[in-house]
Amino acid sequence: MATSQERRAELTAVYREARACTRCPELASTRTQVVFGSGNADADLMFVGEAPGAREDEQGIPFVGAAGKLLGELLTEIGLTREDVFIANVLKCRPPGNRDPLPAEIGNCSDYLMRQVELIAPRVICTLGNFATKLLRGEPVGISKLHGQAEIRVIGERAVRLYPLFHPAAALYTRSLLETLRADFARLPGLLELPPPDQPVRAEAEPEPAVPEPEVTAAPEPSPDLEPEAPDDRQLGLF
Ligand code: URA
Repeated sequence: MATSQERRAELTAVYREARACTRCPELASTRTQVVFGSGNADADLMFVGEAPGAREDEQGIPFVGAAGKLLGELLTEIGLTREDVFIANVLKCRPPGNRDPLPAEIGNCSDYLMRQVELIAPRVICTLGNFATKLLRGEPVGISKLHGQAEIRVIGERAVRLYPLFHPAAALYTRSLLETLRADFARLPGLLELPPPDQPVRAEAEPEPAVPEPEVTAAPEPSPDLEPEAPDDRQLGLF
């Protein structure tokens, strides 16, 4: 198991990779910046939304617009803050005009999300809305059928409690959805108190063949194109 510091360093490395991503040519050419995700790298609770909107694209941080404000209020109501959780999206780039993510874009981007889940190792993942729910369950069943029902699922190689919720943006405009979302949120503290799910047994890695110790030479010069650390810290929020 990685230490907290190793986990942050690896997450920063994944972020640096994502920041330069051009797997989706349209998104890469229309985004202001990649919105990787932000929050606590040691979080027990992770939220996965759909894709950045205009405000997120501007600021580089997920859920900073109206839906984000509601998400923050719902967290406060259950005694949590954004500093306690990690927030990411299915897509790391804003689809132009806030259109729906395309299947090819979801396929291109899902490996970043899987690596975030693997590194953060949350106990509970709340999928917000249809796109995140369908992606992480790997099935087409929609959020109206599934919201508020926790189940243990293996995401990548990690078993987590998956807890689908309505997307806060949908709840902004429909009072009954807001009430349902609030009631589903109220069950989150109880879910977080449950013991962590048993992890699947992983195949033992083959032992590495012994490599002779290298001769000690002078430390290499830092690579000139590595950017300073500070901008990463800011983008990733609270690491
Ligand atoms: N909606 C999302 O799904 N994600 C965001 O980051 C903002 C709004």
